[in-house]
Amino acid sequence: MFVTRFAPSPTGYLHKGHAFSAITAHEAARAAGGRFLLRIEDIDAARCRPAYEAGIFEDLAWLGLDWETPVRRQSEHMDDYAAALERLRAEGLLYRCFRTRAELIASAPHGPMDTFRGGPDPDESARLSAGEPFAWRLSLEAAERRLGGFEGLTFEADGERVRARPEVGGDVVLARKDAGVAYHLAATVDDALQGVTCVIRGVDLKEAAHVQRLLQALLGLPTPTYLHHRLILGPDGKRLAKRDRAQTLRELRAAGVTPADLRRELGL
Ligand code: GLU
Repeated sequence: MFVTRFAPSPTGYLHKGHAFSAITAHEAARAAGGRFLLRIEDIDAARCRPAYEAGIFEDLAWLGLDWETPVRRQSEHMDDYAAALERLRAEGLLYRCFRTRAELIASAPHGPMDTFRGGPDPDESARLSAGEPFAWRLSLEAAERRLGGFEGLTFEADGERVRARPEVGGDVVLARKDAGVAYHLAATVDDALQGVTCVIRGVDLKEAAHVQRLLQALLGLPTPTYLHHRLILGPDGKRLAKRDRAQTLRELRAAGVTPADLRRELGL
């Protein structure tokens, strides 16, 4: 049975790009005679708001979509993520990262700090006893050793079998300092627990599949197929962000735009 999902974070109101993503997944499920799930990715308590979550339900219903209930809300399943994290930690695949944003930038002045591969902190015991907060990172080196290399890691993306390159994510953070879990771990665990067979999301998340494929291998989880859709651009030609107020579905609705207008505009 084909199972896909739309997994927004309630950190802002949904915009046209979200509508495109949700409708694309919903239609794929319908065409396949499968299931469409909605998941609320609300692990970032500092940025998530109940009003945004209510907005998600309202906007998706306005678009004419329906989804299965109960809706999985990540904040209600922290135990599942903690168990996965503990399993990886017990196998020696994780290390603590105390580094602050400033330290990370200093250690990678020419590269993106989110592909950090620095290994454990040389001052770990001192920082631990000083009570400094830390994140848990996945050690690519340890993961590679455990799996005997990444050669066997493949997945299907956009109709082609590709070889996973988990290096694209560096030693990803699996548990944030502030949240106890991080996106890749929560999404990977949930996709498996919810029986998702096809992940449909924007091309901006194309690299995420490489990281998530590695987590599936380490946690013994099934691998879904992946479909990446184009991004909806704003009037300035840039991809829409949550800060683009005028492009939110609620603003469009207030301005008299109908779901049919929107579908036409999005080429759906
Ligand atoms: N919560 C993520 C977002 O809003 C979704 C990522 C995913 O679909 O895996 O971008």
